[in-house]
Amino acid sequence: MDKRRVRVFRDKLTERRISLVGQVQQAEMYSRERDAEATQDPADMAANAYTKELLVSMSDNDRQLLNLIDEALERMDDSGYGKCVRCGQPLPEKRLEAVPWARHCVGCQELHERGLLIEDEE
Ligand SMILES: [Zn+2]
Repeated sequence: MDKRRVRVFRDKLTERRISLVGQVQQAEMYSRERDAEATQDPADMAANAYTKELLVSMSDNDRQLLNLIDEALERMDDSGYGKCVRCGQPLPEKRLEAVPWARHCVGCQELHERGLLIEDEE
């Protein structure tokens, strides 16, 4: 892939990474504030538990995305960026524009989502 194109995607990934890390930090701060309030009202406590659960699941997804972004940035360093990590086919730029951290081509992604892909590298 053209070095200038790679730089465009690198910027995109870096931006997304910054906004993601900011979000996670905010969520963690919010969660700590709620803990500090320590209310005894059962309805409130249930709401707190729900919020906490939501935050936990959110940061799980965020963490996963963060991993994918970091992996994509690593692939840029060893010039594997823009290729399917399974079959090595170049990914269409349209796909990378929508999902700059994409690891798989459309075909492999489908297999992956159906759980039919055995990842050698993991
Ligand atoms: Zn593939």
